[in-house]
Formats: sequence, structure tokens, C-alpha cells
Amino acid sequence: MDTQDISDFFDTSKASCKGKDITLFYPNLPAGQHRKDVELAKEMCKECEVVEGCLDYSLRYEPLGVWGGKSEIEREILRRQQKITLPLDRRASPTVRRSVNAGRVQRIINRLDLANE
Ligand code: SF4
Repeated sequence: MDTQDISDFFDTSKASCKGKDITLFYPNLPAGQHRKDVELAKEMCKECEVVEGCLDYSLRYEPLGVWGGKSEIEREILRRQQKITLPLDRRASPTVRRSVNAGRVQRIINRLDLANE
């Protein structure tokens, strides 16, 4: 499948994060608070009925944030284990990715669009 249409992977209307505080999923805070927010986001994912589809989608297309109950680093590890490669326009080193705030904001906007569907 060479699409990145999220609805091909899971029913977004069933997402537990729909309408919730999306900034938890994209923490950009000092390390301690960052970890706390990531854990809160992952807790929400544990109760989500579309977690498998969300993880599948995010392994293929989403380098940033918490998706499918996994952090950015956990997903990167899974990608390596499963030999999944992100599309070229989604790849960057973690350092570069964190400094690209425009990209981060765009992801948040995308997430808000998902929440408002
Ligand atoms: S598994 Fe995906 S859709 Fe469900 S709460 Fe987590 S990030 Fe949202």
C-alpha cells in the first residue's frame, strides 16, 4: 500500500485520543515532563480500540509523537526490527526532527483535524 491515508489503517472515529489534549502526544518539554506526558499519552492508547491500526500506520508514516501506544524511539526500534522504512520526506535524525518546530506544529494540526472529524 503506497498511500498515507490514515483511514486506510483504522477508523479514526474510534480513536481514544479524539478530542483529547493532543499536546500530550507531542511533548516538547524538559526531559522529566516529557517522559510524564509520553506515559500519559501511552496510557490513553492502552484503552484505544484502534491501537493496532494506529501503530501500523505510524510505523510507516509517523516519526514524531506517541502513536499506537509507542513513543518515537520505541517505534524506531520496531521499524528496524520489522525492516520498515519511512518515506524519504519523513526521515531525519532525532536532533533535526526536534528542532523542526514547523513540522511538529503541522503534526499537531493534523492530529487536531483527526480529533475534529
Ligand atoms: S492508539 Fe492511536 S488513535 Fe488510539 S489513542 Fe493512541 S494515538 Fe490515538
